[in-house]
Amino acid sequence: MKKRKAVFLDRDGTIIVHEHYLSSPDQLKLSPNASQGIRLFKEHGYLAIVITNQSGIARGFFDEERLMLIHEKLTNMLKNEGVLIDDWYYCPHHTEGVIEHYKVDCDCRKPKPGLILSAARKHHIDLAQSLMIGDAETDMLAGKNAGCTSILIRNVCTESTNTASISGMDYVVKDLLEAAQLFIRLKN
Ligand SMILES: [Mg+2]
Ligand SMILES: [Zn+2]
Repeated sequence: MKKRKAVFLDRDGTIIVHEHYLSSPDQLKLSPNASQGIRLFKEHGYLAIVITNQSGIARGFFDEERLMLIHEKLTNMLKNEGVLIDDWYYCPHHTEGVIEHYKVDCDCRKPKPGLILSAARKHHIDLAQSLMIGDAETDMLAGKNAGCTSILIRNVCTESTNTASISGMDYVVKDLLEAAQLFIRLKN
């Protein structure tokens, strides 16, 4: 069976506008050019898979049921733009959490590659041909730790940080559409 290639996508600050511990579907707002970018990747044969740290669950700010509602709404928002996400992975853990069940030093919280590796096994993904895109160093390192190419999105959160101080990234772009255009140009 031929292996697939995938684009692994951070959620907050990448697909949607960053909100501190977003806990309600009403707070969802798509980032500029996000749906266009994901659509272009998909048209070129990439699976689109969300990889997100949601320590707000361990911290007791919201529960997994609430996260499902948020992802359901986001699924519909993207569907309205003609975009279908192939799978969703999240890490609910944090070592400083207050909910005992999630207070663990897990293998899935980015920069660890656990979520990407799980997705790769399930979907038969060739990681060397795949990309991790996000707006933080943890995303870049998770991509590297999994053997992917890492692309940094420079948004309002990263703009204040000197991007030269961020390690692990291979490319810097302004949004998901620029990432998709860059990659399609490089691979053709
Ligand atoms: Mg982010
Ligand atoms: Zn985890």
